[in-house]
Amino acid sequence: IKKIAVFTSGGDAPGMNACIRAVVRTGIYYGCEVIGIKQGYQGMIDKNFFPMNRHSVSNIMQLGGTILKTARCLEFKTEEGQQKAYDNLKEAGIDALVAIGGDGTFTGAERLSRNFNIPVMCVPGTIDNDLYGTDFTLGFDTATNTVIDAIDKIRDTAESHDRLFFIEVMGRDAGCIALRAGIAGGAEAIMLPEKETAIDDLINTLEAGAKNDKSSSIVIIAEGDKNGGAYNVAQKVKEKIDYFDTKVTILGHLQRGGSPSSFDRILGSRMGFAAVKAILRGETRQMVGLRGNNISFTDLEQSISGHEFKLEEDLMEMSTILA
Ligand code: ATP
Repeated sequence: IKKIAVFTSGGDAPGMNACIRAVVRTGIYYGCEVIGIKQGYQGMIDKNFFPMNRHSVSNIMQLGGTILKTARCLEFKTEEGQQKAYDNLKEAGIDALVAIGGDGTFTGAERLSRNFNIPVMCVPGTIDNDLYGTDFTLGFDTATNTVIDAIDKIRDTAESHDRLFFIEVMGRDAGCIALRAGIAGGAEAIMLPEKETAIDDLINTLEAGAKNDKSSSIVIIAEGDKNGGAYNVAQKVKEKIDYFDTKVTILGHLQRGGSPSSFDRILGSRMGFAAVKAILRGETRQMVGLRGNNISFTDLEQSISGHEFKLEEDLMEMSTILA
């Protein structure tokens, strides 16, 4: 292996830049050329390639987003698109890929390696922490910290006005951000896609809090909660009891941005380093992960199709007891 290319694809996540930096510097250290591909699979089709050196990745560790940009590319989902991308990689002399992204990105990498026999290693980059084969994905820790910061700020105003706030956080299929941020932010209730919460149970919790002289309440709702999101939950609560002064906040895309936490910087560095070393050992079709604070590898097919319940049982149990 002489020329490794790195790209980011799907949704951006804080920590991707630390990973890109590690791929570039590890590759160069071991005598390889490293090529950056801009805008993921779209960049492969458009030949958006550029050579990277140690300086191309100076001063990027602290930046959110991805310096390589990212894109969602429909053309790449077709066989013709994949052929075009591969022809361009071949023409540029690229003989291995490091893909940073989510399961869609991994599926694309799996197709390339299966159809054209090009070595690929994948790194899980998504704030949702919903990928199989790793305890943590890149960006999850930073996003959770961002949500906690928002909860703290909302708590100030909630407390001053004796209000009930419903805060919606990202997580269509996984409640990892909601659960952790809810516990760390002292939320009165947390609503998750993995566990249905009846509106009557929520009201009982809120009323019990009010009886205990709680002057403000914060309910964290993952966007994939079965009640249909924060506005719907607020509406359903208001239909049954009207004495709370309720407000709704949807945190939205601010959860994707910001300077990565130390955890995500280290995780990105470890995963990028491990991905390049694995390629140079001759490995392919794997996702680099972190399990029990050790770097792990999961077959790409399994990481794409596997499902894992990521919510820690003790956190689930304590979330109601400590609230
Ligand atoms: P996130 O979790 O943030 O959504 P992701 O990597 O899952 O990240 P997707 O938009 O699903 O994001 O996928 C990124 C890109 O991967 C797509 O735009 C497409 O180019 C490619 N891709 C996704 N699915 C496939 C597929 N079945 N075959 C080939 N390529 C795919």
